[in-house]
This record gives sequence, C-alpha cells and structure tokens, in this order.
Amino acid sequence: MLDATDVFVIGGGPAGLAAAIAARQQGFRVTVADGAEPPIDKACGEALMPEAIIALKRLGVAVPAPEICRLKGVRFLRSGVSAEADFPSGLFGLSVRRIALHRVLTERAEGLGVQLLWKQVVTGISDKEVDLADGRVGARWIIGADGVNSRVQRWAKLDRLSHSSWRYAFRRHYRVPPWTGRLEVYWGKHSQAYATAAGHDQVCVAVASRHPQLRLDEALREFPELNRRLRGAETTSAERGAVSANRRLKRVYRENIALIGDASGTVDTITGEGLDLAFCQALALAEALRTGALVHYQAAHRRLARRPLFMARLMLLQDGRPGFQHRMLRALRRRPHIFRNLLALHVGVPSPFHLALDSLTLGWGLLTA
Ligand SMILES: Cc1cc2nc3c(=O)[nH]c(=O)nc-3n(C[C@H](O)[C@H](O)[C@H](O)COP(=O)(O)OP(=O)(O)OC[C@H]3O[C@@H](n4cnc5c(N)ncnc54)[C@H](O)[C@@H]3O)c2cc1C
Repeated sequence: MLDATDVFVIGGGPAGLAAAIAARQQGFRVTVADGAEPPIDKACGEALMPEAIIALKRLGVAVPAPEICRLKGVRFLRSGVSAEADFPSGLFGLSVRRIALHRVLTERAEGLGVQLLWKQVVTGISDKEVDLADGRVGARWIIGADGVNSRVQRWAKLDRLSHSSWRYAFRRHYRVPPWTGRLEVYWGKHSQAYATAAGHDQVCVAVASRHPQLRLDEALREFPELNRRLRGAETTSAERGAVSANRRLKRVYRENIALIGDASGTVDTITGEGLDLAFCQALALAEALRTGALVHYQAAHRRLARRPLFMARLMLLQDGRPGFQHRMLRALRRRPHIFRNLLALHVGVPSPFHLALDSLTLGWGLLTA
C-alpha cells in the first residue's frame, strides 16, 4: 500500500513531470504514475520555443549543452521560395531529442523528491483516491497529465470541447548534418513538413496533414528540396505517429481534479508550442494549488492557450491552399520585418501597433504578390 500524497499526477510525460516539479517547488508531496518506462519517446518536432526555455529555467531544468541545438528563428519554404525571420533580440529556441528532454525532467523531479511510479497504469479515480494495480492511493489533488486521449478527462467529466479540429502527424530522425539553425516549415499542397536539428549529426523531420494514412516517405515526395537533403541518409528512429489538433476544453478542472498538457487541450503541431504550453501551465497550476483555488488555474490556462490557438488557425489558413501559400511566402520574403513581427507575436512579444500596421501592409502585399 502506497502512502497518501498531496498531489497525484497521472502521466509522467513532459506535462506531468513539469507539473510534479512545479508542485514540489511549492512544497507539496508529489507522486507521479505512468504506464510506460523512462525515457519515454513520442512523436514530436522536438523544438522548444523561447517561452518554453524560460519556463524550464523556472522549473530548474537544464538540458546539457551537447544535447541541444540553438534555433535562431523560423524559415518557411515552398517550391524553391523561402522566407525567414529571427526570434526577437535576446530570445532563442532550442531543439532537443524528446528522450533527452524526458530524461532531464525525470532527473529534476527525482532530485526534488517526487515519488515516481513507472509501469503503473492508473485505472480509475474516485473522490480523493487514485486506483493503481497495486491498490489505492489517497491524494488531496489529482492532476490528469495523461495525454491527448486522456481518460482522466472522461473520468472527471471534463471532456466537453468548445472547439476541435484534427490532423495527423508522423516523425522520424535522419543521420545527416543539420543544414540550418532555424526551425524549417516546408509548405506542401496537402501537408507541411518540419525539420529541426537533432544534435550535431541528425535532423528530426515531422509531417502533418489531414490524412491519417499519409506516412513520411510518401509525404516527403511533396517536398523535393527536403527530400534531396535526406536522400540516402540512415534513419535513426522508428516512424512515430500522433494526432495533432486544435482542441479547447470548456473546463480544465473540477473540484480537486485538474488537467494539464495535451490532456487539457492541444494546439496544432504547426505552432511548435505544445511543450511551451505544458510548462507554462505547470507553473500556473502549482500557483493555483498553493492558493487552494483551481479556478485561478482555469483562468491562466485559458489565457495561455489563446495566442497559440490564434496563431495555429492563422497559419493553417494556408493549409491546402497552394496559391495562397505562394503569395504569402512571396509577401513575407519581400517584407521581412512583417515576418519578424509575426514571429515576435507568436513567441509572446506583442506589439499591437506593429500588428495593425503589418496586417494592412501584408494584406496589400498578398494582393500584389
Ligand atoms: C508530430 C508532432 C510534433 C510536435 N512538435 C512539437 C514541437 O516541435 N514543439 C512542441 O513544443 N510541441 C510539439 N508537439 C506537441 C507536444 O509533443 C505535446 O504537446 C506534448 O507531448 C504533450 O505532453 P504531455 O505530457 O501532455 O502528453 P504525453 O507526452 O502524451 O504524455 C502522456 C503520458 O501519460 C501516460 N499515461 C496515459 N494514460 C495513463 C494512465 N492511465 N496511467 C498512467 N499513465 C498514463 C503515457 O504513458 C504518457 O507518458 C508535437 C506534437 C506532435 C504530434
């Protein structure tokens, strides 16, 4: 029989571990259970946006230098045309292998004294208890961090969606020296491919589309430039798939139960913001636990999700519209400051004045591109 705890986290992926670390930093006794064994891998583009890096710092998590690559910005590419923008001055992104990120989060949680139960599937929850194969554990707070197919969401009757749109994504690693210090987004007719450096001799490639059957090899034919770079390269990981969605829940807590990470709603992979959101939510959740009022978490959660969801919808306006993509790319190429300002907005450095001005200029640019 396990000891009762203050906070029981169901799911030890990045969101669950970040929630556990943040709650422990607030002085709570924390237990995490995950059905899998570390390090846990998952389909992911493996890019961390600048806000994710700031949040990781607040969580006391550092990824060792040899395992990270700095990202200075974003590049969009389509049929030989490209446009690029850097993050605002002083900010940068990182790419890090998912298993390396999971390892450092696990080590940090362990170091803080979080009780970690691996290979332990949670089979149910009741008022203030969590059911495991080995018995029940009492918990004052229960956190559902069990991913996009969250059962905690259903058990707590928090599965009412206020918005949802689904896509499908696959990722794989290739042994080839990274050719760019940016997160690359290749626009195709029916899909997008993302490429990021993964260490010093590998590149992580993900593809997202509305077609569940579209696998990497077939999808890559739509991106001759990327295909050329990967031709003949050894693949160093299995192809992994996952859904990629813009999903917003009406509520992310009920009584003493709260949801976090993909269990609490998702943003499309095109934003590269899932991890960023999870880490920022973890900090907000721990603060709400400290005050004893999860209603504050609900408010923070809604505020954190607003911008990524908006940016995802904005970018996906181009999905399946090659003519529009082409115009957009040419307009951004001609006016790099607009791309820079949009990227600044994307990473949370807003300037309403620039945004209004840029919207007008970009509108004109699209008409004339
Ligand atoms: C193709 C793709 C590319 C992406 N690229 C990026 C990117 O570049 N940058 C970015 O920031 N985000 C990206 N994302 C999003 C990001 O991967 C997710 O937002 C992130 O993985 C969410 O983490 P999580 O901990 O909420 O969920 P998960 O990582 O899914 O973890 C959930 C955990 O819960 C466990 N679990 C489930 N049920 C139970 C149970 N009953 N009992 C015990 N354990 C349970 C699972 O074993 C799992 O370990 C991408 C997503 C996809 C699909």
